[in-house]
Amino acid sequence: MSELRYDGQVVVVTGAGGGLGRAYALAYGSRGASVVVNDLGGSFKGEGNSTKAADVVVDEIKAAGGKAVANYDSVTDGDKIIETAIKNFGRIDVLINNAGILRDISFKNMKDQDWDLIIAVHVKGSYKCARAAWPYFRKQKYGRVINTASAAGLFGSFGQCNYSAAKLAMVGFTETLAKEGAKYNIHANVIAPIAASRMTQTVMPPDVLENLKPDWVVPLVAVLTHKDCQETGSIYEVGGGHVAKLRWERSSGLLLKADDTYTPGAILKKWDKVSDYSNPEYPTGVADFMGLLEKSMKMGPNDK
Ligand code: NAD
Repeated sequence: MSELRYDGQVVVVTGAGGGLGRAYALAYGSRGASVVVNDLGGSFKGEGNSTKAADVVVDEIKAAGGKAVANYDSVTDGDKIIETAIKNFGRIDVLINNAGILRDISFKNMKDQDWDLIIAVHVKGSYKCARAAWPYFRKQKYGRVINTASAAGLFGSFGQCNYSAAKLAMVGFTETLAKEGAKYNIHANVIAPIAASRMTQTVMPPDVLENLKPDWVVPLVAVLTHKDCQETGSIYEVGGGHVAKLRWERSSGLLLKADDTYTPGAILKKWDKVSDYSNPEYPTGVADFMGLLEKSMKMGPNDK
């Protein structure tokens, strides 16, 4: 990590006025990159706005001898954020889609506004920033993207239906960006971080938070966005000194003939096979499903 540098590169970090975003921005600033410090400066629920959050971090980077410029737009206007990078530094190399808010509420009490705002900031915001950066990445045949998911998206979390939906969306988004970007040396990975920030300070006890510094998410992000890193399309859990990769696992499954003998009873009879993980597969694309389809077509009628 100590030797990783980003000299001559331009990094956009969204939501960089606090928490994880600030930690990323300071790290890139201290390792030679020019940094666009984006932050809307609102509350953690997405209310209000202010220039202060981004300005403070820009000042910190500059005081340490780095190069940085502030942007105060919402990520839903991602094109303006990328424009800030182009206007000030002439290029964009790394995009960290990090900005986020919470609107926690039980599903029973959820209002359209709670749903819409979360989807707008996390899903549309990440799309808008990546979409605006993409033509530059393709043209220069180089780009690195980090999207931010959450354990809430991977596993579900009480009172976070909106947030869970938005965060798992980041996984599919990343997996497809990685596939479309491969030919152009554009790599995309997604992280599910855990760190002490204003977002987590009310939901975790102080002694736990002390061991979850945002700084301890930075090293993985630094590795994944370095020009020499070939990882792409992967999901990582990271925080408190732990880094792990996650992947899809498919049970060996039940394969039946798809004809009129394919009934609820036929499935129930062999239900154990559906959830039998003793001989799992790790699918990475839709193509391998086609092989199963061919096999099923060649099978005899099912035992109902
Ligand atoms: P944070 O609240 O400290 O930081 C988020 C930043 O995003 C804030 O500075 C906020 O002003 C900014 N922001 C919010 N809406 C914005 C918008 N529309 N446009 C631009 N900026 C906006 O929270 P954090 O914990 O540092 O979270 C960073 C990211 O990590 C988020 O995407 C969050 O969902 C995700 N995450 C965090 C944790 C954790 O444990 N902290 C866990 C899982 C996922």
